[in-house]
Amino acid sequence: MILRAVRLRPEQFFFRTDRSNLWTWSGRSAQPGFPANVVSRTTLSPSESLLLRSLKPGDKCLVHREFQTTCVRNFAFPPLIAAVIRLVGKPVAVLVGRYVRNKWAELPKEQRAGLFQAHRHKLAIATVGLALFGFVYYEMHIEETPFTKRRRFIVFTQKQFAEVAEQQRKMLFESMKDKLLPAKHPAYAQVNRVAQRLIRANNDIPIIHDQKWSVTLIGDKEKNAFVLPTGHIFVFLGMLEMVANDDQLGVVLGHEMAHTILGHGAEQVSVSHFVDYFVIIVMSALWAILPSDVISGFSTYVMNKIVDVMLHLPYSRLLETEADEVGLRLSAKACFDVRESVSFWQRMNIVSHFEGDVAAQVPEFLSTHPTHETRAQKLEESVPKALELRKECNCPPLPLRNPQLDVAALKAKLSKADAVDDPWKPFIVVIK
Ligand SMILES: [Zn+2]
Repeated sequence: MILRAVRLRPEQFFFRTDRSNLWTWSGRSAQPGFPANVVSRTTLSPSESLLLRSLKPGDKCLVHREFQTTCVRNFAFPPLIAAVIRLVGKPVAVLVGRYVRNKWAELPKEQRAGLFQAHRHKLAIATVGLALFGFVYYEMHIEETPFTKRRRFIVFTQKQFAEVAEQQRKMLFESMKDKLLPAKHPAYAQVNRVAQRLIRANNDIPIIHDQKWSVTLIGDKEKNAFVLPTGHIFVFLGMLEMVANDDQLGVVLGHEMAHTILGHGAEQVSVSHFVDYFVIIVMSALWAILPSDVISGFSTYVMNKIVDVMLHLPYSRLLETEADEVGLRLSAKACFDVRESVSFWQRMNIVSHFEGDVAAQVPEFLSTHPTHETRAQKLEESVPKALELRKECNCPPLPLRNPQLDVAALKAKLSKADAVDDPWKPFIVVIK
């Protein structure tokens, strides 16, 4: 259901749901004909009612915002069948392709030409039919992302994906059980404080209100955090050491929450499945047409690499950038200093270079994430808008001290540390 809140006159908001109910509401008093208790008697969900009742006059925070609260799909694709096709599809494509190639080779030359001539129309119809089916299937599963209004392909229903995600969560806990920090660990204090501030400030967004959120800390030096579609946020201790303050952690957790509320998990799995079906078809054709197993195997490897670099990786980076953008808005509403988002990624960049982190040096086009530098640049472009939103949410003014000064200080400190800590320094004579 889409709930739209638009401010048409001062101190008066109009709400419209996709059930075409038109509501007006004023913060001073209920409009004639629209007593306040009507809201609770409607078919609105509890979170939507809460949203309507929580509005205050001049609450620009909610103006011109759209919320997607549920995802209604008419045609659901069973994830289990999709997973099986994906698992066995590629080996079957190889076997079918090889079978066709061997049968073709056994035929006398003159018969081959005749066979192709006789069946070329059927082949053309099958190809066009398949392409048409792919197109219609794709178009049938297009929806708009909340917040950013991007058109995207989603196959799984939210309920179906919740089951898959729950399984994923259990497996993850099992695989990391030796590293998980117990809930009484002191490091939870900061994460709890920041996460609760984010959730409280964004509770008017039904997806955030309805979602169950939790945080788990992982006792590992890795500078990372991730989230599951179930709303479980995982933060590595290395990441907590990396953030300079609550504002930076707010940006990090806002990013993770954005992945969940934008449904990136279901989207990524949907797109991967769809691409895989095409890969399976092309693979069987390659193994049928190409003259030997070695050439077919090599071509398949090259094709998979091309699909990765041209489709999967750019797509993953797109979702990361989108989560950065939406996460920044969430942290702006929670009155965090959004300028710290740029500082955080600049810090990450400086530290990863200092530590010689190989993963951070991978060229962007080969990576699932934009580089730290790119993230800092893109966030810098989004900061003015986020500052505006922060102002509209009646947040206290920002400290005058520019967070960039701390980044410069860190850079200077690390370059000094590098010079002092080099154990080979006594054995080096600098010539130039
Ligand atoms: Zn991310």
